Amino acid sequence: MTNSADTAVDDPHTRRILDLVARGEARSRSELAASLGVAASTVGLRVQSLLDAGVLREAGDGTSRGGRRPRVLQIAADGFVLSADLGGGHARIGRHSLSGALLDSESIAVDVTEGPQATLDRLAVVFDRLLSSGRIHAIGISLPGPVDISTGSVDQPSRMPGWPGFRVGEHLSARYGVPVAVDNDANLAALGEHRERFGHTGHSITVKAGTAIGSGIIVDGHVHRGATSAAGDITHTRIDGSGDIPCSCGNTGCLETVASGASLVRQMRERGNDAVRTTTDVLSLARDADPLATTLVRTAGTHLGQALSGVVNFFNPHAVFLTGSMSASEPFIAAVRSRVYEACHPLATQRLRIESAATGADAILHGAARLALEGMDIPVAAA
Ligand SMILES: [Zn+2]
Repeated sequence: MTNSADTAVDDPHTRRILDLVARGEARSRSELAASLGVAASTVGLRVQSLLDAGVLREAGDGTSRGGRRPRVLQIAADGFVLSADLGGGHARIGRHSLSGALLDSESIAVDVTEGPQATLDRLAVVFDRLLSSGRIHAIGISLPGPVDISTGSVDQPSRMPGWPGFRVGEHLSARYGVPVAVDNDANLAALGEHRERFGHTGHSITVKAGTAIGSGIIVDGHVHRGATSAAGDITHTRIDGSGDIPCSCGNTGCLETVASGASLVRQMRERGNDAVRTTTDVLSLARDADPLATTLVRTAGTHLGQALSGVVNFFNPHAVFLTGSMSASEPFIAAVRSRVYEACHPLATQRLRIESAATGADAILHGAARLALEGMDIPVAAA
């Protein structure tokens, strides 16, 4: 993220004020002070900052309780944040209100192997067009693979030549003059789904199960990245009985080798199904009740459930959300669920929800917008 130190990005009251107004849970300064349990002056300063920044606006008069009628606070309707979900071969771009709601989105073809400059130029064509719709306050962008969020750059030399060390956040921030938040796809999918379901509280894990498997962890409504940004790397969990297949990480028997979409394609082809080329091919065969495809999808779900059971016992989340192409398969989700319930302690599962993500294919855009909103430049007026 590219935030200067004198802004309110990490000011919890500012963040909560914006959230309460966005959710319609507080409409005036006095309601905000009551909800937050802080002094009216504390709220007043921050509301003024949000008004000055064009994030909130005052509208009409609220209902009087005897004295002067309070001004009603609303999220400014002419302000937006932009989000982008960059994949290997395509990118999705979203435009969001300042409450985080996704207003519209579109997909474009990109090729990350062209390098960061050319790829980001393609994104910029769409961003430039969206700039005309109103004032853009911040941008959030998801990169595929490990991301160093302190520099806003990707660390994936093999699949993304030219990208390591390139500061994506700074590059876009210089171009658009707004703060740019950068993180990886799994963390942002987790943040996007969690905030839609639970807001700023609660704990969850979101697993992105598609051609590859990744996961993001949310603790108390915020992304848990760990000491070296490696938290949530479930894909290299060793699975007993997985057949010791070599993994891209150099070990054998990782979850990725038996439960990823890529591994299902490989297993179908090993058994003579040469027409199968993508995860979608396997899933559509399973939908048509092909016995081998169905068995492989179920087994993949059982393996993922096995890997998750240790995490669920240890972390005790409120929910496990599944996103990515595999999450569209009901037999896959059913297998994950039954393995987790079977293998976990009842205390860890008594209120646990295991569901496909409600934000679906837009989870990452939602998360990128949430992170962008938290990175907005809103100077707090001095007391
Ligand atoms: Zn591995």
